[in-house]
Amino acid sequence: MADSVVTRFAPSPTGYLHIGGARTALFNWLYARHTGGRMLLRIEDTDRERSTDGAIDAILDGLRWLGLEGDGEPIFQFARMARHAEVAHALLEAGHAYRCWATAAELDEMRELAAKEGRPPRYDGRWRDRDPAEAPAGVPFVVRLKMPQDGETVIDDRVQGRVVFRNDVLDDFVLLRSDGTPTYMLAVVVDDHDMGVTHVIRGDDHLTNAARQTGIYRAMGWTVPSFSHIPLIHGADGAKLSKRHGALGVDAYRALGYLPQALLNYLARLGWSHGDDEMFSLEQAIAWFDIADVNKSAARFDFAKLENLNGHY
Ligand code: GLU
Repeated sequence: MADSVVTRFAPSPTGYLHIGGARTALFNWLYARHTGGRMLLRIEDTDRERSTDGAIDAILDGLRWLGLEGDGEPIFQFARMARHAEVAHALLEAGHAYRCWATAAELDEMRELAAKEGRPPRYDGRWRDRDPAEAPAGVPFVVRLKMPQDGETVIDDRVQGRVVFRNDVLDDFVLLRSDGTPTYMLAVVVDDHDMGVTHVIRGDDHLTNAARQTGIYRAMGWTVPSFSHIPLIHGADGAKLSKRHGALGVDAYRALGYLPQALLNYLARLGWSHGDDEMFSLEQAIAWFDIADVNKSAARFDFAKLENLNGHY
């Protein structure tokens, strides 16, 4: 069993199930089914202000309608906060993380300097080797990971290919905020590890995060999963998909009477194809799908094509 594939779909419940999210779920689901593995579902509800029960229901409902349910019960990330903090403390004790008392004004200065030098903002590591005894009394601290300072972090992405990040660009990022809550970066790694996820398949807006997350895996001595970052969906005009292109929620297509099979068939072909086949069954997609065949350039969502396909079902 140790070698069996475990994928996951990890939506943040802040709105409806977006067609881009549905495609990510579909690729995770297809890859798990193709390999005889499992797809798990994790609801990333740690942003308490933006997460809603309505959005959780909409996502679960949309996945059910599409037939893309996860294996087993969904995991709720917020409920695992104590475990995330435990890992941050283990990293502190092992010397892989440190407490940082940099003030908001100091962080602003670092941002201003970066803007002046025309580079992305970077925390300068000022508490990395400083004695915590020098910390100001009663001032809250954050916990930061000690990232490697020289060399490179390489992600051998199954969709993007070999992606190289210079370590001096990846700064010592925050694991625990000053109120003790975990950041997205920490929570995702701890959950993926604990859930036994072997393959992370998600939008390419998370590619840089993969390099940072690798730092946590290495510091914990955990196996780094295989990464596949799929390009975001664009509209037929090549611009990033937005409401002006048409409906973006799976529920909207359902309400319009589209068939789930047609939507799945269309979503599967956004960035992936099998020869010239336009219509195929889920069984065929399961047999044919491989994440390594997903296209590296952005797929274009063409509403007319979807409608045409739906007409054939
Ligand atoms: N919750 C994140 C999102 O919805 C995904 C995190 C991940 O896949 O690692 O963008």
